[in-house]
Amino acid sequence: MATNSFRFCPTCAAAGGEWMNNREYRCPSCGFRFFQNVAAACGVLIEHEGRFLFLGTTWRFCGSGREC
Ligand SMILES: [Zn+2]
Repeated sequence: MATNSFRFCPTCAAAGGEWMNNREYRCPSCGFRFFQNVAAACGVLIEHEGRFLFLGTTWRFCGSGREC
């Protein structure tokens, strides 16, 4: 969803909602709040004889010398 794509509140259909820092939408009529903070990540959980190992990564590790 593109930033600032709401013209009307998706909950109450009122006009006049505000975008804060292009990441948070607030509706003054009903108080609905929408946060645009998408973050991609992946991970795997390995279990062996009751012990667990979690391996994960996010986009922040790409290009920083770690596996991506
Ligand atoms: Zn609303």
